[in-house]
Amino acid sequence: MFTDVLTSAGVVVGIFLVKVTGTLVLDPIVALIVAANITWTGFRLLQETSSALLDAALPKKEIDAIKSIFDEYKDRDIQFHALRTRTAGIRRFVSFHVLVPGSWTVQQGHDLCEAIELAIVRVLPSTHVTTHLEPVEDPVSWEDLELERSSNQQMQDMK
Ligand SMILES: [Zn+2]
Repeated sequence: MFTDVLTSAGVVVGIFLVKVTGTLVLDPIVALIVAANITWTGFRLLQETSSALLDAALPKKEIDAIKSIFDEYKDRDIQFHALRTRTAGIRRFVSFHVLVPGSWTVQQGHDLCEAIELAIVRVLPSTHVTTHLEPVEDPVSWEDLELERSSNQQMQDMK
């Protein structure tokens, strides 16, 4: 939108200068400057919108904020891993695994997940938090750090 204003202004200035000075060479020069400006603005807009359309991870500052919340809860029995974040427009999406002792009740595990999810939303509003609860002592819990599980692992899981 601002480009349109600049372009129009540039054209007016160009025509004005050509009229006043009678120098015809000024007109294409102004036109070139305006064209360069449109190209640059277009390039910048494309960059901004493409990063908004293609989901990006949260900024480091926000990821650090999440990690410091983890630190408040983390101890020998409670661990976190597989933290993944992305932004889509104004929304933030955060997911991670919460590892607790297998002897915990569903209620205990869920209460912890709720507390951490709430703590994150307090610090980072408009965040959709998804947690995955796992028994900390089970090796399988530690084999799912990657986005894609290998077929070997999947075969093992089936056993
Ligand atoms: Zn895991």
